[in-house]
Amino acid sequence: MEDEEGPECGKPDFVLLDQVTMDDFMENLKIRFQKGRIYTYIGEVLVSVNPYEELPLYGPEAIARYQGRELYERPPHLYAVANAAYRAMKRRSRDTCIVISGESGAGKTEASKHIMQYIAAVTNPSQRAEVERVKDVLLKSTCVLEAFGNARTNRNHNSSRFGKYMDINFDFKGDPVGGHIHSYLLEKSRVLKQHVGERNFHAFYQVLRGCEDEELRKLHLQRNPALYNFTRQGAGLSVLDTDEKSHHQAVTEAMRVIGFSPEEVDSVHRILAAILHLAVYQRLFEWVVNRINSVMETRGRDPRRDGKDTVIGVLDIYGFEVFPVNSFEQFCINYCNEKLQQLFIQLILKQEQEEYEREGITWQTVEYFNNATIVDLVERPHRGILAVLDEACSTAGPITDRIFLQTLDTHHRHHPHYTSRQLCPTDKTMEFGRDFRIKHYAGDVTYSVEGFIDKNRDFLFQDFKRLLYNSTDPTLRAMWPDGQQDITEVTKRPLTAGTLFKNSMVALVENLASKEPFYVRCIKPNEDKVAKKLDEGHCRHQVAYLGLLENVRVRRAGFASRQPYPRFLLRYKMTCEYTWPNHLLGSDKAAVGALLEQHGLQGDVAFGHSKLFIRSPRTLVMLEQSRACLI
Ligand code: ADP
Ligand code: MG
Repeated sequence: MEDEEGPECGKPDFVLLDQVTMDDFMENLKIRFQKGRIYTYIGEVLVSVNPYEELPLYGPEAIARYQGRELYERPPHLYAVANAAYRAMKRRSRDTCIVISGESGAGKTEASKHIMQYIAAVTNPSQRAEVERVKDVLLKSTCVLEAFGNARTNRNHNSSRFGKYMDINFDFKGDPVGGHIHSYLLEKSRVLKQHVGERNFHAFYQVLRGCEDEELRKLHLQRNPALYNFTRQGAGLSVLDTDEKSHHQAVTEAMRVIGFSPEEVDSVHRILAAILHLAVYQRLFEWVVNRINSVMETRGRDPRRDGKDTVIGVLDIYGFEVFPVNSFEQFCINYCNEKLQQLFIQLILKQEQEEYEREGITWQTVEYFNNATIVDLVERPHRGILAVLDEACSTAGPITDRIFLQTLDTHHRHHPHYTSRQLCPTDKTMEFGRDFRIKHYAGDVTYSVEGFIDKNRDFLFQDFKRLLYNSTDPTLRAMWPDGQQDITEVTKRPLTAGTLFKNSMVALVENLASKEPFYVRCIKPNEDKVAKKLDEGHCRHQVAYLGLLENVRVRRAGFASRQPYPRFLLRYKMTCEYTWPNHLLGSDKAAVGALLEQHGLQGDVAFGHSKLFIRSPRTLVMLEQSRACLI
C-alpha cells in the first residue's frame, strides 16, 4: 500500500470534485474502486465500497501506518477513522461513536471488526492482564454473537439479523477496561420460517454438525439438518462451504474464554435442541448478550484514582430495506434509518457550526432536507403510525389489519409523506385495504399491513413464561425472569413490540447525540457478491438514499473545504516558489497566505486559527489543476 495516491486513483475526498453531480460522484467512485481504493472521504465521513475480495489493506503493518497519524496524512481508511475516534476520545476526553450504515451485504459488520481490531492493536502497551482479558472478550464476543444472530440470506452469506451497538469503556490511560452490547430487533421469525435459499441462525447447524455423537445422542438429535423443519425449509443447505464443525469449535472455545461455564454451554445446546424439537429463541439470544455484558462490566477499577471512563461506541445496524413485500420488520428498520438520518443531518450541521465558532469564522446557514416530518409521521403521540397501531392492538374484541389501515388513512390523508390505495385510487402499485406507502428520505416504500397487529402484540403466553421460569435448569430460569411476576402485574398490558422498539431507538439516538460522531457509509457494489464488479444503477441508488451528495453539498455549502494549514501545504506546496520544497515564512498560516496570493485566490478564503477555509469549489479545482500539472 502506497502512502500517497496519484491522480489516477481519483479524488480521495468527494469534496474535491469539480462539480457535485451524481455523474461526477459515480465516476470518482468507479475510478477508485477499479484501482482497489475502496475508501473515500467526504470530509471526515468515510465512504466504503465492499470489495468482495481480500485486499492487502489490513493487518499489523497497515495499523502501524495509521497509528497516531492525522486523518489526511494517509490514504482514506477505516483505520484512520478508528484512530481519529480514539484520539478524540483520548485527547479531549470526549465520548465518541462510530456509526456504520449501509444495506445488507455492504460490509458494515466487517468494518466494525476492523475497527475493533485497530483499537485492540493500539491499546494496552503495558500488557495489563485485566485489559488483555477485556480485549479478548470484546473480540471474541463478535464470534459468539454471529453464531446466534447471523444467518445465510440471499443477500449476504453471513448476514447480521440484529442491530448491534457496542460501547467500549476506556480508562484514563486510554486502555479498554470494559464494554456493553445492546442488541436491537432480532429477526426471530427466521427461527420458524426461512425463505428459499436461506438458512436459520448459524448456531443450529453448528450444533447439529459440530457436536460429538455422544452429545447429540443426549440431546436426542440426529446430525442431518434436513431432518428438522426449522433448518431445512430454505434448502440453503446443499451449499456446504461453511465448515460448521470448525465454527462450532471456535464458538465453543470463544464462549469458554469469555467465561461461559461448561454447564451453561451445555444448557445452550439443550435449548437449541429443544427449539428444533419445539418454537423461545429471542430469550436465548438476549441471555447470551447479557452473559457477555456481565463479564465485560468494568471491574478492577480503582475509584479513588480513576475518573469517569470515556467511551467509544460502535453501531452496526441494518440499513434501509425495500423488498417486493414489506412488513412490520421493514417498517421498524426503515423508521430506525429515518432516526439515524435525522441525527446525521443534525450532527453534521452542528459540527460544522461548532467548528466555525472554534476557528473564529462567521457561520452561514445551509439549506437541507429535514426528514423530521417523516419521523413525526411514525412516532408522534396519539396519531403517529405506531400510536394508531398500539390503539388497534389494545381494542377489545376482533380487530383487523384492515381497520388499522382505515384509521391511518383518516389521520394522515393530508400528510405529504403518506399515501394508500384508498387515498390514491389510480395507483395500481398498491392494493386496496392492504397497502400504505411512506415516502422515506431514501425512497418510497409500500408496506402491507398484513400481520402488523399480531407482530406488534408479540404474544407470549404468561403460563408458558411461568412454566419456563420454574424449570430446574438455572440457565433456562435466567432467561424468563418475568415468569416470576405475580398475577396482578401479569394482567397489566405489556408494552408492544413497536413501542419497545421506538423506546430503544429514542434511547439510542439520545446516546449517540451525546457523543462525537464519526460515520462510515457502506456501499454494496453488486447483488452477485463478486469482486471487481460495480453495478452502476445499484450504487447510484445507494449513494442517493444514503444522502451522500447532500452530505458533500452541506460540506461545501458554507466553505467547500477546510484544511489545517500543514495539510494544505503538504498537498499544494509544490505549486508555489515560496513554499517548495520548504518555506521560510515563520508560520504555516503565513506560508499558505503567500501561496494563495501567488495564485490570486486569497479573496475566496477565510483564515481560521488553525485551518484554512475555502469558500468556492472553483478555488479547490484550480489548486488541484495546478498540482496535477506538476506531478
Ligand atoms: P453487512 O454487515 O453490511 O451486511 P458484511 O460486513 O457481513 O455485510 O459483509 C458481507 C461480506 O462481504 C463479508 O462476509 C465478506 O465476504 C465481504 N466483505 C465485506 N467487507 C469486506 C472487506 N473490507 N474486504 C473483503 N471482503 C469484505
Ligand atoms: Mg452485518
